Amino acid sequence: MLRAAALAAAGLGSRLGRRLLSAAATPAVPAPNQQPEVSYNQIFINNEWHDAVSKKTFPTINPSTGEVICQVAEGDKEDVDRAVKAARAAFQLGSPWRRMDASDRGRLLNRLADLIERDRTYLAALETLDNGKPYVISYLVDLDMVLKCFRYYAGWADKYHGKTIPIDGDFFSYTRHEPVGVCGQIIPWNFPLLMQAWKLGPALATGNVVVMKVAEQTPLTALYVANLIKEAGFPPGVVNIIPGFGPTAGAAITSHEDVDKVAFTGSTEVGRLVQVAAGSSNLKRVTLELGGKSPNIIMSDADMNWAVEQAHFALFFNQGQCCCAGSRTFVQEDVYAEFVERSVARAKSRVVGNPFDSQTEQGPQVSPAAADGSGCLEPAWRSRGGLRLRGRQAWLQVSALPCGGGAAADRGYFIQPTVFGDVQDSMTIAREEIFGPVMQILKFKTIEEVIGRANNSKYGLAAAPFRRSEGYDTHIFYKLLLNLVSYYRVNCYDVFGAQSPFGGYKMSGSGRELGEYGLQAYTEVKTVTVKVPQKNS
Ligand code: ADP
Repeated sequence: MLRAAALAAAGLGSRLGRRLLSAAATPAVPAPNQQPEVSYNQIFINNEWHDAVSKKTFPTINPSTGEVICQVAEGDKEDVDRAVKAARAAFQLGSPWRRMDASDRGRLLNRLADLIERDRTYLAALETLDNGKPYVISYLVDLDMVLKCFRYYAGWADKYHGKTIPIDGDFFSYTRHEPVGVCGQIIPWNFPLLMQAWKLGPALATGNVVVMKVAEQTPLTALYVANLIKEAGFPPGVVNIIPGFGPTAGAAITSHEDVDKVAFTGSTEVGRLVQVAAGSSNLKRVTLELGGKSPNIIMSDADMNWAVEQAHFALFFNQGQCCCAGSRTFVQEDVYAEFVERSVARAKSRVVGNPFDSQTEQGPQVSPAAADGSGCLEPAWRSRGGLRLRGRQAWLQVSALPCGGGAAADRGYFIQPTVFGDVQDSMTIAREEIFGPVMQILKFKTIEEVIGRANNSKYGLAAAPFRRSEGYDTHIFYKLLLNLVSYYRVNCYDVFGAQSPFGGYKMSGSGRELGEYGLQAYTEVKTVTVKVPQKNS
């Protein structure tokens, strides 16, 4: 079976990726039920299912059709209070979770991974139904990374030790890595299962308890996993999951006086609110994974076939809904015209449609709001003589544009793959996240110029140069490193491993997820100092 990592490296959604998918991988991907049944749509507290205290519900929508999949319990402050109480009780000294050996926590995480693997086909289909991402990607990429993440952190459970420290005098110190306590976790809709795994894996490996709020657009798969958590044997109250909205359920977590830490993934705008709420309540610990406007730099001696495919993949993967998308494609002037032409041809050939079709590269955006491109597309179209047709997620095609700009179907939230050429640094589309299938190509002359322009951003998430010569790569590497970009790739894009940390500099966030570094945010370091007999006694 073709491995997801290899696919990612090859450029998912690229022609090459498609060929690989149809030639090798598709037979290994089981046919999904395109109408997977929804088993869980309530609030999960203490390993039990509850309606919201208010009895309120909200609809979750199939973005391919705009139709309601089902109603989901709408958690609010009172539900968060109940979940925090349950989590606190599960964290009391002497509770089954606190008495459990670390190796048994690892065993539970591995068992959870086994159960997710057992239900992989169903989960991938449910993810596609609720989020709109192509089923083949849900199955081969998202689920693969979810499983690897849980298994990676299962391995850490009994290995994240403190140190022994011989201090001055007749004393001896050692450190213990202790769980932080009740962790509030707020996740977004672009990778619902994967973001759940990134948050739960390190929190549970280190012995914390969790109150998680899932995104209102995509609650279903995380709720299904809640039941697997129970089936795996996690004690009641260790994981509690609340579907609901940000300003109500989310804000109740971030401002709660009995939540010790909050981990948030989402927009920079909301990240700021999270930090303020944490600061004005109990100074809970905060980690943030926020937005980006990541530069992807194509030097003139790059392997052009590879660079075009990778730049396409860097932007269009996951319908362009990635915080680390390569959303500023800088191209050196001598290859600029060729690169734009080939990128436009590639975007035009992108297969947009039913996400359950195995040939589909791009499904719908997750919601009408997401299809709106954060509102910053309209000025860009206007400046080129185009007008967006409000309410239909459609844009008029204008001749100055290389390609795209319209709704790609009569219903659902589909957008044509769109490419803007000749983008200037001052344009909103070069500065703000669009979070959609909209590529911005900018021209540059020299390496010094492009480094300065690439770094001229409030964000500092990811960057990549494409270049054959090693000397220049190293040069860019150090410059970008000095100028604050955290996730750096050379001659590739969107390659992830559970082992390597991910996070943002500047307004892209704080703290790291994944890898050993990802454990730091979920532990407090306790120093124990012991008086020992005098050295010469
Ligand atoms: P996006 O704009 O991509 O939807 P958001 O940052 O709005 O991203 O949402 C990410 C997550 O944050 C979601 O689970 C959302 O419900 C939640 N959220 C939104 N507003 C708040 C808030 N004021 N406080 C806490 N969480 C929030």
